[in-house]
Amino acid sequence: MPTYIVLIGPPGVGKGTQAKIISEETGLPHISSGDLFRENIKNKTDLGLLAETYINKGELVPDNLTISMIRERLKATDCVNGALLDGFPRTPNQAEELEKLLVQFHGRVNHVPYISASSETLIERLGGRLTCRAQGHVYHSKYNPPKVEGKCNLDGSDLYIRDDDKVETIQRRIQVYFDQTSPLIEYYHKRGLLEEINGARSIEEVSTEILKLIGTRQA
Ligand code: AMP
Repeated sequence: MPTYIVLIGPPGVGKGTQAKIISEETGLPHISSGDLFRENIKNKTDLGLLAETYINKGELVPDNLTISMIRERLKATDCVNGALLDGFPRTPNQAEELEKLLVQFHGRVNHVPYISASSETLIERLGGRLTCRAQGHVYHSKYNPPKVEGKCNLDGSDLYIRDDDKVETIQRRIQVYFDQTSPLIEYYHKRGLLEEINGARSIEEVSTEILKLIGTRQA
């Protein structure tokens, strides 16, 4: 049976960073809806051009576009043993669609680690976020600075501030999260799948706890 992990948390909580660690430890491919959209935008696909208009305002991309993009990604051969989903689902409707989709792959959502943090922590973290242009590796000017200023430690490419990490958009993204994504927490809580983790700690403390609860590391 494949294993599907849905990583939930507000923007800026360190979801992307944690997802990369968990993916390496478990061997499950890291599927980030945000990264998939950014790839489409970079390649100027029809989906990318459409999605960009929503993303740059901090709004959610409509469900039909998002769900079909994820469906295609989950069909890929590297997902035979499951996947680690980051940024999808973001609404209860997307979660219902995911349930239906996973039935087709003879699986279900097995774990939903929820990394939480206060809005103050989120604003501070997003404000300093730097992203690598080549592969989307993330840094923070204060909490996780690169070894060489402006360059990615892993591939040497330039670091930049994502358009949606600019101050005006950050506020909107956090608002959108509380309005539209918090119901997802309730959705998974009701199904007994939600496992809350305090995200206001070091990267390593958070990843150790997530790996413990998904059963990769012994307590
Ligand atoms: P992220 O990298 O996860 O912060 O996503 C960046 C942006 O992509 C979000 O602010 C949304 O505009 C869009 N996006 C990512 N995932 C989804 C999703 N599951 N549903 C709708 N929009 C999404």
